Amino acid sequence: MSLTFTNRTALVTGAGRGIGKAIAESLAKHGVTVICVSKSADSCGATAASIVAAGGKAKALAVDVADGAAVAKAAEELLKEYPVIDILVNNAGITRDGLLFRMSEADWNDVISTNLSSCFHWTKHLARPMTRARWGRIVNITSVSGIMGNAGQANYSAAKAGMIGLTKTLAREFAGRSVTVNAVAPGFIKTDMTTDFVNNPEVSSKILEAVPLKRFGEAADIAAATVFLCSEEAGYVTGQVFAVDGGMAM
Ligand code: NAP
Repeated sequence: MSLTFTNRTALVTGAGRGIGKAIAESLAKHGVTVICVSKSADSCGATAASIVAAGGKAKALAVDVADGAAVAKAAEELLKEYPVIDILVNNAGITRDGLLFRMSEADWNDVISTNLSSCFHWTKHLARPMTRARWGRIVNITSVSGIMGNAGQANYSAAKAGMIGLTKTLAREFAGRSVTVNAVAPGFIKTDMTTDFVNNPEVSSKILEAVPLKRFGEAADIAAATVFLCSEEAGYVTGQVFAVDGGMAM
C-alpha cells in the first residue's frame, strides 16, 4: 500500500539516533518536511544532513525536551516559520534502570520529565494549530514496559504507561477536529538504548525467551508502524496502542 502525505511538516523528537532517526528518515522519504529534535546539536544535525543529502527536506533543532520552558520557546519560534506542524512524533526517551529500593529521586524525575512530561509540553504547544487546521497526527512512542511492567524499570514503565493514558485522553479531546493521537509500543529494538542487552549472549537469550518471534526488532520496524499512523490512510485510527514487539505483549 502506498501512503499519502500532502505537503506535511513533522516534528520528531529523539531524531538523532535509533528509532527517531529511522522515523525521521522514513517520513522524509514520503515527502514530509521533518524537524529533527535531539538533545545534542551534533546528532539531530547529522540526521537532518542525511535527509537533505538524500534529496529530502529537514531542519535540525537541539532542545532538551525535559525542559518545559525550552520546549515552549522552541515551539513559539517554530510556529513563526511553520504556521502548522501537522505531525508530532514524541519519541525522545531515556532509561535510568534500577530496582525501586535503589532508585534515586533524580532517576525517577529525569525519566518522568524526559519521557512523559515532554509529550505534554510539545503537544500543548503544537496541537492548537493542528486543531485549527482540522488535521493532525500525534504518535507517542511508548513501550511494552508501559503495558506489561518490567522489574527494574519503575520510572520508565510509569512514564510509558502515562504516555498511554495521555494518548487515549488526547485522542478523545481532539477527535472532533480530525487530529488523531496514537501510541506505538516497541518491544526490544536494536539501538544504542539496548546495546548492552543485545550484545550480551546470556542476557539476550533470556530476553528472547519472552519474544514469540525470537528476534530483536529493528528501528525500521517501528518507523513503518509510525509512518502509517501519520499518513492520510490512518485517518480513522485514534486512541490505539500499536505494539511492535515480536508478540511479547499479546
Ligand atoms: P536511543 O537510541 O537512546 O536514542 C534516543 C534519542 O532521544 C536520541 O536522539 C537522544 O538525543 C534523544 N533524547 C534523549 N533525551 C533527550 C532530551 N532530554 N532532549 C532531547 N532529546 C533527547 O533510543 P531508542 O532506542 O531509539 O528509543 C527511542 C524511543 O523508543 C524512546 O522513547 C524509548 O523509550 C522507546 N523504546 C525503545 C525501545 C528499544 O528497545 N530500543 C523499546 C521500547 C521503547 P541525542 O542523540 O542528542 O542524545
